[in-house]
Amino acid sequence: WDSLIWPVKWLSHDYRQIMSDLIDAERLLALLQQKATVVDCEEPHDIRDVEGHVAFEDVCFAYDNRKTTICGLGFSAQPGQTIALVGATGAGKSTATKLLLRFYDVTEGKISIDNHDIRDITLDSLRNLIGVVPQDPLLFNGTILENLRYAKPSATFAETIEACQATSIHDKILTFPDGYKTHVGEQGVKLSGGEVQRLAVARVILKDAPILVLDEATSAIDTHTESSIQRALDAFKNRRKRTTFVIAHRLSTIVSADQILVFDEGKIVERGTHKNLIARDGVYSGLWSKQSRA
Ligand code: ADP
Repeated sequence: WDSLIWPVKWLSHDYRQIMSDLIDAERLLALLQQKATVVDCEEPHDIRDVEGHVAFEDVCFAYDNRKTTICGLGFSAQPGQTIALVGATGAGKSTATKLLLRFYDVTEGKISIDNHDIRDITLDSLRNLIGVVPQDPLLFNGTILENLRYAKPSATFAETIEACQATSIHDKILTFPDGYKTHVGEQGVKLSGGEVQRLAVARVILKDAPILVLDEATSAIDTHTESSIQRALDAFKNRRKRTTFVIAHRLSTIVSADQILVFDEGKIVERGTHKNLIARDGVYSGLWSKQSRA
C-alpha cells in the first residue's frame, strides 16, 4: 500500500507547489493589468494629508460589462469612524474597498475623500492615504526589514522596532539568526499565517495613514493572536482619528463599529449599528444568530 501511496503523495506536493506558483503569477498579472486600466487624470492633485471623510455616492461598477457587480452604493464615513462591511462571500465588500484604492474606476457615481473625487488625486498620493491589511498578506523575497520599510522607506530602525513591538512580533524576529535582516518569502524563513499577519499590521502602523482598510483574516489566526492584533490596531487607531473600513467575517469583532453596512449582491441591504440591526430582526440579525450558534 505504502509504495502505492508514495508517488501520489509526491504528486500532490508538486501539484500544490505548481498551483501556488500559478496563483502568484495570477496575482502579479492582475496587478499589472490593474496598473494599465487606472491612470492619473491630466492634472491630478497631490494630497499629502486628509481629515478622513470618505463618501461613496451612487457608485456602480462592473468587472465585465455583461454583469454589474456593484450598483447604487452610497454611504459616508466621518473622520475616525469605523465602518464594517459584512455579508456573504461574493456580495461585493472587497470590490468596494478596491474601488476606494482605485484598483478599478467606478463606472457610475463618485468616491471622494475630504470632498476630492479620488479620480482627481494622483494614484501615488491616494494610495499613501490608505493603509491596507489584506486577508492574506504577502511578503516579498527580501529581509524582514525591507518588507516593513516598503511601507515607509524613510522609517528609522527605532520606529520599525516600535511597530513590531506593538504587534508582538519583535521578540520572534530576534529569535532568527539574522534578526531583522532575516530573509523571508519563498527563499527565506517560513513564517506562520499569524506571524505574517502581525508583520502586515506592523507595516500598516509604520505607514501611519489616515485611512485604514482591514480585511479580517479568517482561518490563519487563532483567537488569542487575533485579539492581540486587534488591541495593537485599536491603540494605533486611537492615536489619531483614522477612518477605518473593516471587512468582517466574524461579527463579534465589529459590535462597536459606528456603522455596519450589510452587503448583498452588490447593494447595501441594511445599515446601522449592531444594536439597531439586531433590533430590526433582518439579514444582519440572522447572520448574527447563525454565528452565535456556531
Ligand atoms: P466579497 O468581498 O463580498 O466576497 P467580492 O467583492 O470579492 O465579494 O466579489 C463580488 C463579485 O465580483 C463576485 O461575484 C465575484 O465573483 C466578482 N469578482 C471579484 N473579483 C473579480 C475579478 N477580478 N474579476 C471578475 N469578477 C470578480
